[in-house]
Amino acid sequence: MGRHRPTAELPRHLDELYRRFPFERSLADDPLAMIRPIVQDRRSAEVLGIVAATLAIGNTTAIRGALGRLWALEPGPPADWLLAPPTPARRRALAPFRHRWIRGDQLEYLARVLRAYYADHASLEDAFVVGLAEGGFAAGLDRVAHVLRGDGHSRGLGPPPSGYAHLFPSPLELPRSPCKRLTLFVRWMVRDRYPDFGYWSRVPTGELRVPLDQHVHWIALNLGLTDRRTRSWAAVEEVTAALRRIDPVDPVRFDFVLCHTGISGDCPKERDLTVCGPCSVRPDCRLWRGRAVAA
Ligand code: SF4
Repeated sequence: MGRHRPTAELPRHLDELYRRFPFERSLADDPLAMIRPIVQDRRSAEVLGIVAATLAIGNTTAIRGALGRLWALEPGPPADWLLAPPTPARRRALAPFRHRWIRGDQLEYLARVLRAYYADHASLEDAFVVGLAEGGFAAGLDRVAHVLRGDGHSRGLGPPPSGYAHLFPSPLELPRSPCKRLTLFVRWMVRDRYPDFGYWSRVPTGELRVPLDQHVHWIALNLGLTDRRTRSWAAVEEVTAALRRIDPVDPVRFDFVLCHTGISGDCPKERDLTVCGPCSVRPDCRLWRGRAVAA
């Protein structure tokens, strides 16, 4: 696959894609649909958000199903249940839970880590902004990853379950990972434009990085926003830099649209005249390079 560059009109085409996008239709298919109705405040947004982002693996129907099963384990607000003092009953309720390779005992440990953290801190934003000031977005993500692993405040919690720390990769330690789930969580917390929550006010939206899932990566590669064929932190930086040139204040506003263009089937990921004809970014798409729609 050779180098590909979009047209000079890409900013206008992306804006058009954004303006015409059916946000409500796609929100119903997004993990956010499972937390927006039950978020009450910043604390509950962080707790439910980190659980939803941690489970954001695989297709969206399975993710929403996993969250629904989790919320149904106990009547009442799930964030309250997760932040309550741990009990044998909660451990037993969570024990059989599985979503892909993520297990209930890991979520039970995460709940206890969050409870211990909030005993001394108001928000996960506190950790993020320390890292952001020291070394930028990746360092902020690194700080949050270490908090979630329990580093520094896990005394009395016992050893974590197997595989627990791997749920929260840091771009400083694992640059081959796009760290999509934590990056997605930070997008939800920082952006205050629909469909995100905007509870974190100390992180400028211009600092955000794109949560590079397979759909966003495919379209970014085919629009020439990156030449990197594998997802990695370097690819995250490259795609974000390209989007920042289009919208320096809020580069990640395109993320939901690009992601759900792929999830919904709006983009077939192949040349299909019926679907691609009205696509706003068709003139920039690698698959249509040098081809006219009308035969
Ligand atoms: S032109 Fe077709 S393949 Fe290319 S981005 Fe648009 S819908 Fe997807």
